[in-house]
Amino acid sequence: MGTEGKAGSVVKRFTCGELVEVVTAYLDDALDEPGRAAVEDHLAGCADCGRYLDQYRATVRALADQPREQLSRPVRDRLTAAFKARRPSA
Ligand SMILES: [Zn+2]
Repeated sequence: MGTEGKAGSVVKRFTCGELVEVVTAYLDDALDEPGRAAVEDHLAGCADCGRYLDQYRATVRALADQPREQLSRPVRDRLTAAFKARRPSA
């Protein structure tokens, strides 16, 4: 469904919208190795998502001095929605 953009890429390539969907799993170390590689690959070439990840981490730290697993679902949803609202759906 549109994830096979460029021929010859070895790893799956996330769009920015897809990256937002998996970033919490990424930060929770819940992704498998190919998934992590794909996220890092996207971050390496996408300043917007890099900034988003920085903001996300900073917000998580500011909000909760507790393990990430305990970050409440509403907070995650809000962060995700805030990011999605910043850019047109790709
Ligand atoms: Zn991106």
